Amino acid sequence: MTEKIEDIVKSRMYARQQLIDGWDQEVISNGCMMIVGVGALGCEIAKDFTLMGIGKLILIDLDTIETSNLSRQMLFRPGDEGRPKAEVAAERLKEMNPYLNVDFYFEKLQKLPMSVYEESDVVIAALDNFNARLDLNKICLRIKKPMVEGGTVGFEGHVQIVIPEGCGIEYKNREREIENLVETRLWDITEMEYPEYFKAQGRIEELEEEIERIKEKEINPVIKKIRKETEMVFDWKYAPEILDQTPCYRCLIPIPPADDKLVAACTLKGLPRNRNHCVIKAEVQFEKKYGHKPDLNLNDEVLKLKEIAQVELEKLRERVFNENVAAEERESLTEKEIEDWKANINETFGPDYKFEEMENILGNKIAAIQTVSSIISSIESQEALKLLFRVNGRNIGPPMEPPYVNYNGIYGQFDHLHILRRDDCLACGKIEGEENVQLVVPFDADVGYIFKAMEISEHKLDPELWMITNPMTKEIYWNPYMPSLKDPNIKLTSLKIKSNDIVTLSPLGKALAESEIKKYNVIIAFM
Ligand SMILES: [Zn+2]
Repeated sequence: MTEKIEDIVKSRMYARQQLIDGWDQEVISNGCMMIVGVGALGCEIAKDFTLMGIGKLILIDLDTIETSNLSRQMLFRPGDEGRPKAEVAAERLKEMNPYLNVDFYFEKLQKLPMSVYEESDVVIAALDNFNARLDLNKICLRIKKPMVEGGTVGFEGHVQIVIPEGCGIEYKNREREIENLVETRLWDITEMEYPEYFKAQGRIEELEEEIERIKEKEINPVIKKIRKETEMVFDWKYAPEILDQTPCYRCLIPIPPADDKLVAACTLKGLPRNRNHCVIKAEVQFEKKYGHKPDLNLNDEVLKLKEIAQVELEKLRERVFNENVAAEERESLTEKEIEDWKANINETFGPDYKFEEMENILGNKIAAIQTVSSIISSIESQEALKLLFRVNGRNIGPPMEPPYVNYNGIYGQFDHLHILRRDDCLACGKIEGEENVQLVVPFDADVGYIFKAMEISEHKLDPELWMITNPMTKEIYWNPYMPSLKDPNIKLTSLKIKSNDIVTLSPLGKALAESEIKKYNVIIAFM
């Protein structure tokens, strides 16, 4: 009896969406969505699917709630600070819809067992950094799960759909694609091949009134024949390229931007040269002084950090003034001129620090606002919803085409971008065992620092098992097997490596057999 009441309540809850053409609530209530990242986008998307009665949600997030999240992330409230996002979101979603099943993981997406991914119908990326997106893209390609990816920066955002080859759903419309091919072939046939077709075309022009009859007799048989031929080869010849897949996320980002941690580590080796560097340096000084990293949730620690950063900023301003105005020149300057200099420097490096800047800089935070998050997350939800029907063999509408949309909130404009699949894509292309990496290094970096920087970028390599060469000249910069080419202290500049040059890292010995990656193309950017 209780079950019956539950069913009646449910059917009332979902009554309006049942009115949508092609809707089947069973698809939703048996569906499983994985949402990776439970921030501004993830909260909204999770809410959308919870309200429409999804059977199960899997939430992944390794962050805890911060005060600055409360301006956007609608599942969190004041007082939640410090708790895992995925856990709190799961609680709140259950309050919204008690029939929801939800699993949550306070964990890195790379560490999850594949079975968790396998369970989901569609994977929705709502992440805030490139590397996590690249890894998720790779996982979805490998296990052939459709993925909807989205992101925002300030007043802009984007949504991309990734349908991997062989995931069993058609991206484009089969009928339309076959028609297009038939159409193209008809342009190419010759009179010799099909004289009756051409003759008929001529007669159609002359005898408008007989068109229908002639078509029936002479045109349609030819079309029928070509269509039959096209259909016969379509599945193996055309479908994989034009039907069943989109470019992947990596196709758009062949070379990922340098890791933030790397830029920070690099900054510490030299003198701060901008406003952000001073705060990064202050964090290290804070740790030295107090024995732990500043907790950005504690107001007095942020204030102490801000004080140290402020001193660094003042030293930077002073240094720039001294570098630009020689000591002997200073005597001849009027007070007004000196003030102008200082105002100029202030303009370059910004005014004194504000409290909230510490977290924004150290956390590498990007501008974010709820309005744009709502728009982008809603598009992600809508596309994921259509995909959920597709993976269950149903259709309430095709995925958006082209599979990438950009939104500009300043002008209120949507642009669909025609993105291309790259044959040399390291995730979905034919190249295996290669990886592109961008390293930011200090100007005085040495060969040893390349290995350090690789480690910070999460590519830990044993210097005893990897060789560094110049792919153009074949010059060897590092070879652990050759004593003469084994000086970690030799400066990159003395090897004539310039900014944006590429070096190749190749495995030797045991690494050659064991490493999944057989070649790193490393772009060196000096900072
Ligand atoms: Zn790709």
